[in-house]
Amino acid sequence: MSDKPTLTVLAGPTAVGKGTVSTYIRDHYPQVWLSVSATTRPPRPGEINGVHYYFVSASDFDDLVAKGSMLEWAVVHGRNRYGTIRETVERAMAEGKSVLLEIDLQGARQVKQTMPDANFVFLAPPSWEEMVRRLVGRGTETPEEQQQRLETAKLELAAESEFDHTVINDDVQRAAEELVSLMGLVPNPR
Ligand code: 5GP
Repeated sequence: MSDKPTLTVLAGPTAVGKGTVSTYIRDHYPQVWLSVSATTRPPRPGEINGVHYYFVSASDFDDLVAKGSMLEWAVVHGRNRYGTIRETVERAMAEGKSVLLEIDLQGARQVKQTMPDANFVFLAPPSWEEMVRRLVGRGTETPEEQQQRLETAKLELAAESEFDHTVINDDVQRAAEELVSLMGLVPNPR
């Protein structure tokens, strides 16, 4: 376990593989706690409440915001709200875990305001073409949603310089291990 629990924010454009890299880390590094966000988005097939997200109603989300319980939150891709519940992050850090937040750029900017000492990592695709290929290939969005996500992605790619580090997701395991080192942890031997 790392001596000092750290907070790392992982952001990057749509379909870059933030979820895959973060899940890899969650599954291979027990000393890391991957934050579970609250969202108003309905669950996709196979998604479990409390594991992938806390799936909440719009009014429950309003309450969390009104109570000041959100470390950050944003409307993502012009549709649903997503946010990090402050208490869950504080609890994990108190337990000595290194915390990983996988959030969008708007959320990363909010965390930068309140926790400037956190570690901000940008996950970049090997190329624009590869990113489009992954987005279309995963088939979880309608063509209209894909278009919306690509518009957002253009803006997000331009924000790379706001981050402390960039990791290129050319290979999930390699990218995850680079991120683990940036979190101050020792990557597992291959
Ligand atoms: P999806 O609907 O595909 O699970 O996630 C859509 C986007 O929401 C991703 O870019 C993801 O990083 C972002 N996201 C997930 N959780 C949070 C959160 O707690 N806060 C913010 N700001 N963005 C989030």
